[in-house]
Amino acid sequence: MPIKTEEAAASPARHAGGGDDDGRGRRRVLVFPLPFQGHVTPMLQLADALRSRGGFAVTVFLAPVPSSSSLLHRPAGYRFVTVGAGVAGAAAALIPSGTGGDFAGALMRLDALLRAPFEDCLRQELAADEDAAAGPVGGSNLRGMQEVAERLGVATLALRTRGACCLVAYMAFPELCGKGILPPPTSARRDQHQMDMQLDELPPLRLRDMMFSATTTHATMATCLERLLDSSRCSSGVILNTFNDLENSDLQKIANGLNVPVYAVGPLHKISIGEHNSLLTQDLSCLEWLDKQEAESVIYVSFGSLASMDPEEILETAWGLVDSQMPFLWVIRPNMVQGSLQVGLPDGFEEATRGSGMVVSWAPQQDVLKHQAVGGFWTHNGWNSTLESICDGVPMICRPQFADQMINARYVEEVWKIGFELEGKLERGMIERALRKLMCSEGGNEMRQRAKDLKKKATTCVEKGGSSKTAIDMLVNRIMSF
Ligand code: UDP
Repeated sequence: MPIKTEEAAASPARHAGGGDDDGRGRRRVLVFPLPFQGHVTPMLQLADALRSRGGFAVTVFLAPVPSSSSLLHRPAGYRFVTVGAGVAGAAAALIPSGTGGDFAGALMRLDALLRAPFEDCLRQELAADEDAAAGPVGGSNLRGMQEVAERLGVATLALRTRGACCLVAYMAFPELCGKGILPPPTSARRDQHQMDMQLDELPPLRLRDMMFSATTTHATMATCLERLLDSSRCSSGVILNTFNDLENSDLQKIANGLNVPVYAVGPLHKISIGEHNSLLTQDLSCLEWLDKQEAESVIYVSFGSLASMDPEEILETAWGLVDSQMPFLWVIRPNMVQGSLQVGLPDGFEEATRGSGMVVSWAPQQDVLKHQAVGGFWTHNGWNSTLESICDGVPMICRPQFADQMINARYVEEVWKIGFELEGKLERGMIERALRKLMCSEGGNEMRQRAKDLKKKATTCVEKGGSSKTAIDMLVNRIMSF
């Protein structure tokens, strides 16, 4: 594939070795995940991979928000440092919930709020452990933390928890603004046809795929992306949770455009078991229920940790599932329904689906997707969900809502051809037709076959000599060289 890196070739990683159970005496990587499931999962999977490949000890900096506390039950060798306990209230107030939140603005405010406390924590960490500067890995959304690290002489690596396709789109954002394509005028936003305009700079994306949030202003988005790109350019390397055979040309564009080493180390969940990464309690009973279902018969429905639905969408989804007469496993988080703490499934739904369907509030998704009973995934196309589906050969119905989800959905439909987007207002008839198309049609079978072909490639890349395995070795060597 050849992604440009500083190392000519990966040699077996030197081991950071030695040390006690808490990792004292070993080289240490410092990681700072954003307090959202979609960021925590790949960041800690990467930390696990670095521990097992390079023998590093790990310090995890945690934002002072309640969701972080569930991460504290991890194996020996991890040290946890809560950053900014004194500003916990202010930090918690910044965390948006649901699709309507201004995530870009919130991330920048969190970055600013935690900057000074992080400096204190990092100083203490460096004073406590001489080898702590073995290569902190930060999410590329926390540019402020990276600036602190730079000032203290600590080299940084930027983990992008989204796909290469997303980073390429973000890199094109300034150019599209310069050409006057972004932001589209308000009149154009109301015109479906104009928003469907193909972007020559970013095939197969359309103008509307670049509308990352309904509540973030264009100025905020532009600043947020500028800082995100700066954090990648100023790092000693960008790490992506993807693999060469999936996104080779976009990885190449990133390496050329950012001019830093690029490490495509994914799929991380196939490298690290990651059983301690869930912020919510998983309902394992759904695996027993899946054991009783026929092969590839079940549609799995889940919209990740942040996306939401209004009560009418829940209702239409419920009856669409019933009318399709297909076995289903549906994740409805307690806070998922806009404007209500109640899930509000319709009367008659439970009787109509008893034995043939299951609703849980949080599933062990990676185990669900690899279960032989699961034949399709109706998803919001967060990057982790998209990648997990690809790696287990499961085709998708795509219902993206915000951030990078539209980009991922577009690639699923147009590039990898392993699913299709469900567009427009949700209505039970259209849901039933979409489910039949994915699960029972010739076209759906072809998508499934292509997904299975990608699964093989995802499996090969993490084996000995595979591209991602090699990239991890190179990354370990890079960190050892700091
Ligand atoms: N997930 C899970 N159980 C669920 C739903 C989701 O464990 O019931 C996990 C899923 O495996 C994925 C993460 O939550 O790793 C969601 O990340 P993604 O990037 O797909 O979406 P986000 O939550 O960031 O929107």
